[in-house]
Amino acid sequence: MAMDYWKTILDKLKDKLHPHTFNKLAASTFQIEEINGVVSIAVPNTTFKKDLSINYAPFINEAIKESNLDGIVFNYIITNGGSTSPLSGLSNHINPLYTFDNFIVGSSNNTAHAACKAVAESSPSTYNPLYLYGGVGLGKTHLISAVGNTTRKKQKPLILFTNADKFMNTMVHFIKNQKLHELRNVFLQCDILLMDDVQFLIGKEKTQEELFYIFDELHAQKKQIVFTSDCPPRDLKIEERLKSRFQWGLTVDIQPPDLETKIAILHKKAHMRNFTMPDDIGLYIASHVKSNVRELEGALIKLYAIASIKSCPVTLEFAKTVLKDLFPDEDRIITPSEIINCVAKHFGLKKDILFSKTNEKIIVEPRQIAMFLCKQLTKYSIVEIGHLFNKNHATVIHSINKTVSKMKSDPLFKQQIDSITKKVR
Ligand code: ADP
Ligand code: MG
Repeated sequence: MAMDYWKTILDKLKDKLHPHTFNKLAASTFQIEEINGVVSIAVPNTTFKKDLSINYAPFINEAIKESNLDGIVFNYIITNGGSTSPLSGLSNHINPLYTFDNFIVGSSNNTAHAACKAVAESSPSTYNPLYLYGGVGLGKTHLISAVGNTTRKKQKPLILFTNADKFMNTMVHFIKNQKLHELRNVFLQCDILLMDDVQFLIGKEKTQEELFYIFDELHAQKKQIVFTSDCPPRDLKIEERLKSRFQWGLTVDIQPPDLETKIAILHKKAHMRNFTMPDDIGLYIASHVKSNVRELEGALIKLYAIASIKSCPVTLEFAKTVLKDLFPDEDRIITPSEIINCVAKHFGLKKDILFSKTNEKIIVEPRQIAMFLCKQLTKYSIVEIGHLFNKNHATVIHSINKTVSKMKSDPLFKQQIDSITKKVR
């Protein structure tokens, strides 16, 4: 979950501002996103923007210091959306910048875009539910939010925008207070249910069961439902009956963008932030970030933040020096020892223990992960990997299979592997 920096600051501002001022501020502003230390805050109008960036700036700077958030920069963006719904607690703010207008359409995402637009224009659509899936940072949250932003403007319906994690936490809360029956009523009030990241339902049987009932009731009442996930329904290890519901309507995928789309996205993002981006910079960033659009944007923001701090013009040479740490060197040969170091460090183990004979559970899994990554990231054969770890080739194969299958069934485990891989690279 992303950290809510703005909430931390608000907690500090509470004692610094007049209660009336503070309450108005807390009720009308919220954090939209954080990218490389730049935190965007939604504000309703220019008065708020001016207050925050000028009048209250000394208090905010004080609050930043007190919270040890030095280096964080707040950027105030005027938006007209983002009002909280009565379903708050369960409902997230919809990022007002995630609109169809701000979304670049290319061959990798045009079907998903068209399906979302259709749903936004006539809910309930014939696509009910709409199930959107694709890899990390490819625009799923952007598109599902665009559905919310568009419908909100048109018909003022009650939109419930949540994700599987939040849904589960809320459910646990309701169960604790012995009010589970009320949770369904909360859902039944909404006109549109937007649920992000349903892959996090894996392994949570009770949550799946509850969602199944909620789904059936909403669907029967012809309420529009949209889901997103990192994989197609058939690959989700969840209850069969819920899986079948996910496939009742339309399932569409988003693929990684091609080079032209990536460049167009960069230009859009640069324009939104008032950066003037020369074409060669766009090409340089787009060709070095493989697929994740969030990373594309991260590189752009980092470049312009540093250029502004150093008062340097953004040239290709400058971009190359600033961004070289961000981009993996394609020709670099990764060695098993680098992998083993990273894995050991990640799990807080001494690296020698990964080569030892011990079969303690806390060692076995990191060792299996290390073997898997050696196969993935180096040219070492199964037999050679076996020699490295003092294991026979059957054990290596078993380790790799075990890791692959756990990655499929446990999204948090997969995230862990992805983050270790990134560190190795
Ligand atoms: P996901 O939910 O699939 O992980 P997000 O929707 O959070 O990805 O997208 C990551 C970032 O990339 C967001 O800032 C989003 O605006 C941006 N993005 C992704 N695809 C596009 C696109 N086609 N056009 C414009 N921005 C995009
Ligand atoms: Mg997302």
